Amino acid sequence: MIKILEFYLALIIARCAYMGIRLLNKSSGTSFVGMLTLKICPDFLAHCSKYVRKKIVTVTGTNGKSTTSGLVAHILEKANQKVIHNLKGANMLTGVANVFALSVEPFKRYDYAVIESDEAYLTKLYDYMKSDYLVVTNLFRDQLDRYGELNTTAEFIKNAINKNPDLKLILNADDPIVATFDRTKYAVYYGFENVEYDCTYEHKSNAPSEVFNCLCGNPLQYSKQFFAQQGHYFCSKCGYKRHKCDYPADVKVFNDYSVITVQNRGDAYEFRVNLAGLYNAYNALAAIAFAFENGLNQEEIQKALDDYKAIFGRTEKRIINGNPAVIQLIKNPTGASEVLKTVDLKSNIVIAINDNYADGRDISWLWDSDFEQLKEAEKLVITSGIRANDMATRLKYAGIPQEKILVEPNIKKAIELATTNGKTTILPSYTALLKINKEKL
Ligand SMILES: [Zn+2]
Repeated sequence: MIKILEFYLALIIARCAYMGIRLLNKSSGTSFVGMLTLKICPDFLAHCSKYVRKKIVTVTGTNGKSTTSGLVAHILEKANQKVIHNLKGANMLTGVANVFALSVEPFKRYDYAVIESDEAYLTKLYDYMKSDYLVVTNLFRDQLDRYGELNTTAEFIKNAINKNPDLKLILNADDPIVATFDRTKYAVYYGFENVEYDCTYEHKSNAPSEVFNCLCGNPLQYSKQFFAQQGHYFCSKCGYKRHKCDYPADVKVFNDYSVITVQNRGDAYEFRVNLAGLYNAYNALAAIAFAFENGLNQEEIQKALDDYKAIFGRTEKRIINGNPAVIQLIKNPTGASEVLKTVDLKSNIVIAINDNYADGRDISWLWDSDFEQLKEAEKLVITSGIRANDMATRLKYAGIPQEKILVEPNIKKAIELATTNGKTTILPSYTALLKINKEKL
């Protein structure tokens, strides 16, 4: 009884706090409201499951979890389902608590919860909330200072998986680490059989490839390598190899969209995805696999893909100073290298890098990201944010002529300067993006 009172008290206080924050016109208050909620009622999330009638879907992975979970939620909504979803990339426990605290009402029920979860927080989330599905997009090197090595992250996820007796997994077959998660569970796989680039596609080179080791320690070999460790891998020592796909697909990548053909139980279905880059084709394929697995049809899925707008800066188009601007979040080497392939080299470019906690304090990832792609940039490349100088040094080593690099640590000024003259591409780190949104640029 006391527990239930705590829960309702947390709900009421969370809403008052949220309204207070809005009145004061402070930031969106996402983490503060969530923190307060969990302080008042530590097992708040355990009470939330009963507000979801059908399924709880979680999405994790290094890159693409926001886009993938956003697509999954949008597809379900388009199919007339009531969905609760942590839309703004607030994927730690406080962010999830925040969205439930501000959405749950005593007599209202949702059909689905679609929760994007940080890899390291997934196991904590599952302590309170059991999940029906887990979609895992990929595992790359990311913010090493916070999580340690990739294997540690994989262990976090495996622990989390073992806490859910009835969890169904939807896994990327092309990622050799993700594909090891199925040992004890029902799992379905998606992946690309063939990747083709349209002849007009301007940026074909692959992200810098590292050597990826099999669990047995032997280097993996590839018959096809699409980017980073994604592809058709095999180990000549222990025999580990890419899993057969339940939803195999072919993709043709164009400059700002892709066409994906997905096999579902013997039939082929074509989809157009209005997001740039192969990495987004992977995100869309993950969402399509989830949708097919849950009995949705091609028409319902395509309807959602047609009007899906990239959320919260992961490829966002705006007009700034009367000129078009494209904003694309960058946060780790593999993701950044993929984004860099899609940059319009005729545009002005602003790269804004912070090293606050949420960005990861360690900025060595800048050195592993393929900024060499910007060598042929025609206009100025402005570096900005707390680490504007480090970014400028990185560009110098990437072969960009000194006279084309301008350092302006103030993000607002940097963007104002760039957008006075034609199209601009803005590449911010996570908290730099928050800053851009707060300044309402
Ligand atoms: Zn092996």
